[in-house]
Amino acid sequence: MRRFIFHIDMNSYFASVACQANPFLRGKAFGVGGKPGTRGIIAAASREAKKRGVKTAMNSYEALLICPELEIIHGDPRMYSDITNRFLRIFRRHTEEVEVFSLDEAFLDLTGWVRNLAEAMAVAWKIKTEMREELGDELTCSIGIAENKLLAKLGSDLKKPDGIVVLTADGARRLWPQLPVTDLCGIAGRLGARLSGRFGVATAGDLGAVPVDKLIDEFGPVMGYHLHLMGRGEDPSPVISTVAAAKSYSHSYTLPRDLTDRDELRKVLFALAEKVCRRMREDAACGRVISAYVRYGDFSGEGGRTTLAAPIDDGLALFREGWRIVKPLIARKPVRLFGIGLGDIRPIQQQASLFEKDNKRRRVVAAADAANDKWGERTVEPAATAGTVLKRHVSGFHHALPVHVRRKGF
Ligand SMILES: [Mg+2]
Repeated sequence: MRRFIFHIDMNSYFASVACQANPFLRGKAFGVGGKPGTRGIIAAASREAKKRGVKTAMNSYEALLICPELEIIHGDPRMYSDITNRFLRIFRRHTEEVEVFSLDEAFLDLTGWVRNLAEAMAVAWKIKTEMREELGDELTCSIGIAENKLLAKLGSDLKKPDGIVVLTADGARRLWPQLPVTDLCGIAGRLGARLSGRFGVATAGDLGAVPVDKLIDEFGPVMGYHLHLMGRGEDPSPVISTVAAAKSYSHSYTLPRDLTDRDELRKVLFALAEKVCRRMREDAACGRVISAYVRYGDFSGEGGRTTLAAPIDDGLALFREGWRIVKPLIARKPVRLFGIGLGDIRPIQQQASLFEKDNKRRRVVAAADAANDKWGERTVEPAATAGTVLKRHVSGFHHALPVHVRRKGF
């Protein structure tokens, strides 16, 4: 193998954490989720509950019909993130390159840390031992080892619970003809349906047989080529260390005079949001924790933050969320300074959105960025920010206080 990539996936994570925390739940049929009658669903089911037919995302009421002795417990989000941080610390003892993929999954790049497959296997066993010793017996994981992320992720799916699977390129070739294409990471519902409807693709092998130009015609160059590689079991994407990328982007601006005018303030915040996102797009980064901050004429200040479900790099989206935070604040006193930023930064997924609306917006933003690169900052800008105080300042006609650029949060 040229590269040694691990995908580590915790088995029935929410249920295992609950079992680890509460010994009385062990061996019982239980689900983590909402109580019946509250439109609650089962977010995770214990092994015993699964045996009785209880499934993830099943309605709690329905689950109780199938399994009347089912206990439904509430999950504790703090407990999950605490355990996640603990197993990430274990992973980071073995390589610096750990990419968090979700609350219970991560990719590790061991290339350069191990010399051969035997050493990679030894690391996998060591990680399992350390997890058992430090987190407990209830928390098991499946580890997939392969040359790339696509195959490693597939490998960790092949043996659950508590498996270690090495998936070589040869192994993948043997697997391909009968592997449902939807088992490949990222090819879920819509995309799978499109592949099947347009090209009759059912298995990974079928996908590999579709000519690359046909895929590009149908899905565009980025996604088309990505699918072509997936069909061949290839995935050149690197493991991107989540820690290294964790910083935040923000800008603040001191107004030339204290302002109370809402429209004027809106424009300033929008211009700042655009500036933050412009820089993020240059770094191919996106983030999902939004913070916004107001300082008043009397030098007191207030702010807030909010976390989105999905990361963004679009100034309009950042502005909308930031405005929601500061809107009640600006009504109080004249504003002297505004700040807005994005945290929980991660590298942007190059995958095109399946929604044409998003792709259109992305193309418009990219075209504006290109024009600004060529002819100077703010040659092209949203109509809403044209003629703001900030604009005059940025183009050098204003002698107000400088725009502060800060890389850490406020
Ligand atoms: Mg899992």
